[in-house]
Amino acid sequence: MNPTDYENDEMLFLEEDDSNVEEYDEADAWQVLVVDDDEEIHSVTRLALSDLVLNGRKLAFLDAYSGEEALQIMAERGQDIAIVLLDVVMESDDAGLMVAKKMREDLNLHEPRIILRTGQPGYAPEESVIKEYDINDYKTKTELTRSKLVTTIIASLRSYQQILTINQSRQGLQKIIESASNLLEEHSVKGFCEGVVTQISSLLGLDAGGVVCARAGSVLDRDDDGVYVLGAAGPFANYINEKLENLHDKKITVEVAKCLQEKDHIYGKDYTVLYMNSSGYEAAVYIQVGCSINVIYKQLIEVFMSSISVGYENVNLFHQLRNAAFKDMLTKLPNRNEFINMLDDLENTGVDINEHVVALVDVNHFSDINDGLGQDAGNLLLIAIAERLHTAMGDVVKMGRIGADVFGLIGKDDKVNPQSISKVFSTPFKAGDHTLPINVTMGLCRLLDEESNGLNVLKQSNIALNRAKRSMTANYEYYAPEMEEKTTWRLGMIRQLRSDFAERKLELWYQPQVDLVNERIVGMEALLRWPDKDGGYISPAVFVPLAEYSGLIIDIGAWVLEEACRKLKLLHQKGFPDLRVAVNISMPQFRDSQFVSLVKSALVEHDITPSLLELEITESVVMDEPQIVVDSLKELKAFGLTIAIDDFGTGFSSMSYLQKLPLDRLKVDRSFVNEVTPGKSAFIAETIVTLGNKLGLHTIAEGIEKREQASYMLRLGCDEAQGFLYAKPMPFDQLIEFLDNYQPLEGK
Ligand code: C2E
Ligand code: MG
Ligand code: MG
Repeated sequence: MNPTDYENDEMLFLEEDDSNVEEYDEADAWQVLVVDDDEEIHSVTRLALSDLVLNGRKLAFLDAYSGEEALQIMAERGQDIAIVLLDVVMESDDAGLMVAKKMREDLNLHEPRIILRTGQPGYAPEESVIKEYDINDYKTKTELTRSKLVTTIIASLRSYQQILTINQSRQGLQKIIESASNLLEEHSVKGFCEGVVTQISSLLGLDAGGVVCARAGSVLDRDDDGVYVLGAAGPFANYINEKLENLHDKKITVEVAKCLQEKDHIYGKDYTVLYMNSSGYEAAVYIQVGCSINVIYKQLIEVFMSSISVGYENVNLFHQLRNAAFKDMLTKLPNRNEFINMLDDLENTGVDINEHVVALVDVNHFSDINDGLGQDAGNLLLIAIAERLHTAMGDVVKMGRIGADVFGLIGKDDKVNPQSISKVFSTPFKAGDHTLPINVTMGLCRLLDEESNGLNVLKQSNIALNRAKRSMTANYEYYAPEMEEKTTWRLGMIRQLRSDFAERKLELWYQPQVDLVNERIVGMEALLRWPDKDGGYISPAVFVPLAEYSGLIIDIGAWVLEEACRKLKLLHQKGFPDLRVAVNISMPQFRDSQFVSLVKSALVEHDITPSLLELEITESVVMDEPQIVVDSLKELKAFGLTIAIDDFGTGFSSMSYLQKLPLDRLKVDRSFVNEVTPGKSAFIAETIVTLGNKLGLHTIAEGIEKREQASYMLRLGCDEAQGFLYAKPMPFDQLIEFLDNYQPLEGK
């Protein structure tokens, strides 16, 4: 603007000000520092400029009467001062010049404009001084008529304004560069978003207070359409990771939604919503600002937003990688690794560890569902379970997916307990078109603050879970240290059993069985023996369950069958051609598809009449998987074998299965025979024998130790017996000797 435009004083005042004078904000005025040792100059200047308004702002005056005083004022208010009207000659000839020098060099005030005034015409400072101290104008006092003063002031104010703007932009850009590089080092979405809020607030010179929100779809953790608070500072800081609605601030909710929908920044009167988008990772930053944002700031912010959008994408990609390592993509729950981290972190969250329980929840027969209904149905079921667990337990209980069909829970005892968890599974689950009733098995572990790291706690819960899976009575177990000792012991035993079996150290012993009527030997039961290091034997009652658990029983059982047939053949050849052998069969052997053919070939190989091989199965085997057992037994029965139910009366036989099985014999369990004492009847033993007779089955009494037990069982109508009264189990060599020397007890 050319100063000559303002020749007409009246026009000048109107041009810059067409609104009501009363409304100007004093605090917003341009600060003009008048430095002069002549009091009159102060009042004249004030008078000349009192009505001047530029860009809606009036002038306000600061007065200094010496160079020293001027520097003092500048030291205090330097940032606010727009113009210094500076007398040259005051306490010294060059006092004004010294002020200019010191304010630029010592006080580092480069923005305020300086207008030098001198009373002595002809006393002009060197041109170099004017350049060096960035002095805008130099006038003698007489030169400064009112209109000249006004135009000088206006020109200076404009240049002051421009300098200010340039400097702001420069500082802003500097900040953008710094903050963008700070932010790019940030690897978590939360940290990044907090950084964004803080950086924008600092760009705008506000206290940090804003929210970053993102549409859920662009944040991998969630699938719904909700908008979540990803980062926040100031009053909103507590809402991180919550849904935006939870802020209960309608304006924020509406404006953020609008910003995400319109995909553009919104500059409101007292708020700003900034839009961020990088390759589909969208977010909106809501900032509360006291007043509307000026153009420079808007431009700055836009530069900032575009530079950090890339960072936002990077952070999200990083987050995605982390998710892959720590999140279960199907249920969106933390995976096993993250669950362990959560357990480790629990201590740092300041909660009382001792009140907490970890539960592993295993979905029973999940693989059947997966195989039977397909993987999609299986997946839907797992998602439905995760959701139901979350709804039932709430946010206070932390959850994870630990394995294919195992969920983990961490929470207080009042929520994480077998009853509350069972309740979650009391109604069927919908998985696609299917409605599935689900049962679970639980392993629980109470947390103790001593030395329990996450991995260890998980291990212990797992031990409890495995125990619960094997338990017949309960579907849950709490971890106890003894279990672990037992587990370690069991693993050691299994390892030893495997190697001893491989080294052919297992033995097969035989216990004779007699006809109760004439007490002749009719056969024997083959019983496994495992020699220990001390010359003793580990009981099959101890190691057979371990062999079953580890699957070793399939190989061991095959050997038993083979060995029993071989020895039976030897006995036949040694002059005992009618003897039969009974072999115990465990459930896992039935599951082996080779089982039936294996039995048959053992018989064929050793040339044994099939009816002389008896298979003993316990009731629990029949109950476990009835169909496989029934099918195999029928086939073997058709081949000619005999079949006995072992330990009869101790299991849970349902009569309907008993009738379906092709049985020959019931073995009355030792515990019922034991009840037979002089003068006392044994009710259950009697029932079993009666039942056997009614079903047309033979009966054999186990564990006959006393004569009266034998005679009692005989009176009941029991056919055969086995027990220490006749013989203990013995090695094969001893059996031959025993048979050679045996005399029926009859008549003794
Ligand atoms: P089981 O089939 O009921 O075998 C009978 C058990 O009673 C044997 O114990 C035998 O020694 C014992 N016994 C026989 N008469 C008497 C008696 O008069 N008094 C007392 N107190 N006990 C008597 P053992 O040999 O310790 O076998 C225990 C269990 O181990 C067997 O019970 C059977 O279930 C299992 N087992 C043994 N060998 C094998 C095998 O080769 N395969 C499978 N799957 N299981 C086996
Ligand atoms: Mg048996
Ligand atoms: Mg038995």
